[in-house]
Amino acid sequence: MDFEFSQEEEMFRQTVRDFAQKEIRPYTREMDETGKLPKGLVKKMADLGLLGITIPEKYGGPGGNFMLACIAAEELARADLSIAIPVFYLVEASWAWVFARHGTEEAKQEILPKVAKGEYFFGIATTEPGGGSDIVGATKTTITEESDKYVVNGEKVYISGVRESTTEMKGRYFTTAYLDKKASPKHRGIAAFILPVEKDTPGLTPTLFEDWGRMGISTGGFAMDNVEVPKHWLIGDPKKGFVYSMEGFSAARVIIGATCIGCALEGLEIGMNYIRQRKAFGKELGKYEGISFPLAEWYSKLMGDRLVMYKAAWLMDQVYAGKTKYSHFDVALWTAMAKLRAPIDAFGILNEVADWHGAFAYTKDSELDLGIRGVRSYSIGAEGGMNIMRLIIGRELLGKEFVPYDRPK
Ligand SMILES: Cc1cc2nc3c(=O)[nH]c(=O)nc-3n(C[C@H](O)[C@H](O)[C@H](O)COP(=O)(O)OP(=O)(O)OC[C@H]3O[C@@H](n4cnc5c(N)ncnc54)[C@H](O)[C@@H]3O)c2cc1C
Repeated sequence: MDFEFSQEEEMFRQTVRDFAQKEIRPYTREMDETGKLPKGLVKKMADLGLLGITIPEKYGGPGGNFMLACIAAEELARADLSIAIPVFYLVEASWAWVFARHGTEEAKQEILPKVAKGEYFFGIATTEPGGGSDIVGATKTTITEESDKYVVNGEKVYISGVRESTTEMKGRYFTTAYLDKKASPKHRGIAAFILPVEKDTPGLTPTLFEDWGRMGISTGGFAMDNVEVPKHWLIGDPKKGFVYSMEGFSAARVIIGATCIGCALEGLEIGMNYIRQRKAFGKELGKYEGISFPLAEWYSKLMGDRLVMYKAAWLMDQVYAGKTKYSHFDVALWTAMAKLRAPIDAFGILNEVADWHGAFAYTKDSELDLGIRGVRSYSIGAEGGMNIMRLIIGRELLGKEFVPYDRPK
């Protein structure tokens, strides 16, 4: 068992840290207020290999593994406590990865190099107005085969990156819909495919929601009225769209863990710097046990979360490189644990650190509100609610008969 990062991983961390502290940190408040990514940032991230970090080199990507993806996520979140940029980064890192695994060669050649260059945003669209947790039950969107194309009808909501995809970039989304409503079991009727999301995509009507956090990346939705999808944009086996979605969620969840941990690490650092110098009743705050004991508790929790997260990343790398006795069920368990723990603890840490700062925390001169609002998105539900993580963990511990739904074979 080796708990050290390799030299290559340490160098990569330093490179991303230098970049993020210089190019991102000074602009986070501005991003929060304008709702826009800093000008030119997408191109700079592309140049550093941070867009679609897991896209294989063959398709113009950096070919990074999940350890590297998580290292970068931690550093991006340390620089951007609002986590808008880490979200932009992680959605692409996870969902473009699933597409690279299962998409047709022609579609991958067409789409992935443009994702890596920052011309296309690569997103995920599974959630519908009827719900996001129960994809099988809530999906109403259909995809229908015609002689030379597929046609999609329905609606997706709470989708990240819709404004970006319909303004300065173009969007390509990993999307799910029923291809066969009569399939048994039902999840085998769900297909995954690439949906074009652009300003003028025929039949597509985008909408935007007004979020209260991570303002640099938008959340929106789109109604689809006979949106056309080329045949070769269907992803893999048409009966396995649900299974591919679960792979993508595992990938996203481990990087979300890294993101929330990066944000919490920075929050603690800010807090420690403050309580080392701020005095009350003649002593530095850090000398009072009412302050240092919660620090000790939170730090211990966070280090536990970090070990879980890096083990989950390691498992992703082992399992999907086909190197191991572990299976995707182990991956589902560990990535769910990473997603369950990190957002909740990060929120608790930032809240605690805000207390240490007194009134200063409640001003916009402090960065803490950015983090509190940002990480909460992940315990509310983005890429799966907390109870869904508990459900997965319970299922893996107790056995498949202890779930209230049919488990995919
Ligand atoms: C900021 C943000 C960005 C997002 N971006 C995207 C995106 O890019 N693409 C996308 O497809 N979706 C996106 N989502 C949607 C996200 O995936 C869903 O919010 C999530 O899947 C939960 O679905 P829901 O919100 O419809 O809640 P519901 O499914 O209605 O669930 C409501 C609550 O009930 C709980 N619950 C559900 N089932 C059970 C059960 N069996 N037992 C106990 N509790 C249960 C859930 O955990 C949740 O707390 C985003 C969400 C947010 C907040």
